[in-house]
Amino acid sequence: MTDEYRIEPGSKVDLRKLPTRDDALFDGDKEEGLARLDALGREIAERQRRLFAEDRHRVLIVLQGMDTSGKSSTIRDVFRYTNALGLHAVSFGKPSEEELERDYLWRIHAHTPRRGEIAIFDRSHYEDVTVVRVLDLVPKKVWKRRFDHIRRFEEMLADEGTTIVKLFLHISKDEQAEQLRERIEDPSVRWKFNPNDLTARAAWDDYREVWEDAIGETSTKDAPWYVVPADRRWYRKLAVATILRDTLGALDPTYPKVDEDLTPYLEQL
Ligand code: ATP
Repeated sequence: MTDEYRIEPGSKVDLRKLPTRDDALFDGDKEEGLARLDALGREIAERQRRLFAEDRHRVLIVLQGMDTSGKSSTIRDVFRYTNALGLHAVSFGKPSEEELERDYLWRIHAHTPRRGEIAIFDRSHYEDVTVVRVLDLVPKKVWKRRFDHIRRFEEMLADEGTTIVKLFLHISKDEQAEQLRERIEDPSVRWKFNPNDLTARAAWDDYREVWEDAIGETSTKDAPWYVVPADRRWYRKLAVATILRDTLGALDPTYPKVDEDLTPYLEQL
């Protein structure tokens, strides 16, 4: 199980000191890295097949990161070979009126994984302790107590059999500029450009600080955060795939054993 990039419970997190570009998990070049990613994708698919067949464990993956950090393309490429029927991917955008009528964990809990399933959250309940602070959507008294709710919510999920992995895709401000420039200049990704991203970018340090708090407050033994260097796209995917492969590996799902002799059924064919 890789400890690389895992945030120890109780740590004080300073994102400026954590790498956005690294080679600790793989020091080859891009071409070799993509080949490795491909192999990891196949391993993840095989482990997911067993997880589904065994119908015992639940897995929850939380993906967060600043705008343009590559959450959706990471999901696409890491699960390239995985059967979609065993996955439950969901994006959490701004809460709807309906959702705001309820407590902030209501919409989250509705999407936690079934047995045998891997749920992937593109954004999550962590928006409720980060963006809400930067945009001043809820008073301090309200967001502050949420850290404790979240720790206990995740503890409950873990106690009930859910393995939780939380990944923060860590990009530099320069890399974000590069990605936004590409969105403006490249017609095939222009649809992704949202001028609001520039407003969020202007508040980069505010976002950095609220994320440092959120990660430090909620990285626990059963629901650890990993801060993944994400400036190089292929390395980011490779690192996420390694962490997930190891997580699924530690669960060691196995195909159910069938003791019955099935050969008599052959006669019915
Ligand atoms: P991507 O997630 O790929 O960057 P996007 O930013 O366009 O794409 P959307 O679904 O349009 O994704 O919206 C996500 C927006 O919703 C983000 O700005 C996010 O901060 C905001 N959001 C998510 N959850 C909450 C929340 N609980 N409260 C307030 N804003 C939230």
